[in-house]
Amino acid sequence: MIDLNDLLEQVWPIAAQQATPTEYVSLNIALNRVLAQDILSSLNVPQHDNSGMDGYAVRRADIQPSSCYQVSQRVPAGASPQPLQPGTVARIFTGAPIPPGADSVVMQEDVVVNDEASVTFNATPRLGQWVRRTGEDIATGQVVLAKGTRLDAIHVGLLASIGVSTVLVSKRLKVGVMVTGSELQSPGQVLQPGQIYNSNEYVWCGLLESMNVEVRSVGIVPDNLEATCTAFQSLADCDAVISSGGVSVGEEDHVKPAIEKVGQLRSWKVAMKPGKPIAFGHINRQGGGQSWFFGLPGNPVSSAVAFQLIVKPFLGLLEGQTREKVDWRSRTRKVQAEFAWPTPDSRREEFLRADVQSDKAKLFENQSSGVLTSLARSTGLIRLAKGQRVNPGDWVDYVAYQDLMR
Ligand code: AMP
Ligand code: MG
Repeated sequence: MIDLNDLLEQVWPIAAQQATPTEYVSLNIALNRVLAQDILSSLNVPQHDNSGMDGYAVRRADIQPSSCYQVSQRVPAGASPQPLQPGTVARIFTGAPIPPGADSVVMQEDVVVNDEASVTFNATPRLGQWVRRTGEDIATGQVVLAKGTRLDAIHVGLLASIGVSTVLVSKRLKVGVMVTGSELQSPGQVLQPGQIYNSNEYVWCGLLESMNVEVRSVGIVPDNLEATCTAFQSLADCDAVISSGGVSVGEEDHVKPAIEKVGQLRSWKVAMKPGKPIAFGHINRQGGGQSWFFGLPGNPVSSAVAFQLIVKPFLGLLEGQTREKVDWRSRTRKVQAEFAWPTPDSRREEFLRADVQSDKAKLFENQSSGVLTSLARSTGLIRLAKGQRVNPGDWVDYVAYQDLMR
């Protein structure tokens, strides 16, 4: 049995060292892909000083309260203004360029409109007020996004804002998925006696979708050695293969012998709870080369937690994400237990499902690794060391689900 930290140090560097093929893609399909280049801005955002309000552009030094000013031009957004005639003001709208010579904007709510052509100000404006400065958001040459960033919706918008229409990203990974278990049935089918619905595949596929990888699933594989070997081999051209279930030592567990037959087992059993039977290795391809392999436990909580803690970061590293981005351990923080955990596991560290609000952690009552609702009704995982007892009020390590997935 290997400690989780040791497994991560064994497994993640393998992915980090592997070269990541890249390709240019159009911005509109770049969501959730990983940047393979630093993006530098070729322009200033905003491009020119512009108004942050509907109102009047003025030269601050010209303005006296209660004096009347001629409105010498009108500048809607998209217009190209004339220099401001001294002693006059310009009608201006949000986003419109500030006329040369003007330096401040007075919002229309603070202006008395005498007629179309003249206005009076109630007060002296502050120099530079309501002016958005050239380059105040992004300056030319600035690194806007770093290589290794997974592009979320805001990132994509940021790229659009500097006029980028094509980006260099890592090629999409191909990830093979299979779930073993003769008791499994697909949602939509009637459960026969003794059957349960396959949920692991749905959890993984949902999590994989947020990575924009290509998922190849062979679905449910019955518990026999031959079918397991055949399924592995059919997925061998994927970059990585993930299986659930059948990875323990029961007579109906065929994943370990199968992987030893079609590839190589490199690590097996991790000292964590949920999730002890976790296998890592590879599957040999017929024409040479190999596909990385993770065999995760069948229990839904174990399978989801092991996926998030071990597999997702591995896939991110294969895609060229940085170690800093994928290593959730650096995002672990202390929260205060509002529960007791008097009989910890002495041989395995534990990940407890907890609901944390304002740094106070409540434990989900059923911590069984088969209870998927424990993941649905919690905000993250409390990480306890081997043998770590908890009394109410103790500060314990916690990682939020939202910090696991970046
Ligand atoms: P195993 O790891 O094969 O011993 O399975 C452990 C438990 O997880 C058993 O109760 C299985 O029925 C259940 N299980 C296995 N695979 C799945 C799956 N794909 N979806 C939901 N539960 C599963
Ligand atoms: Mg099974």
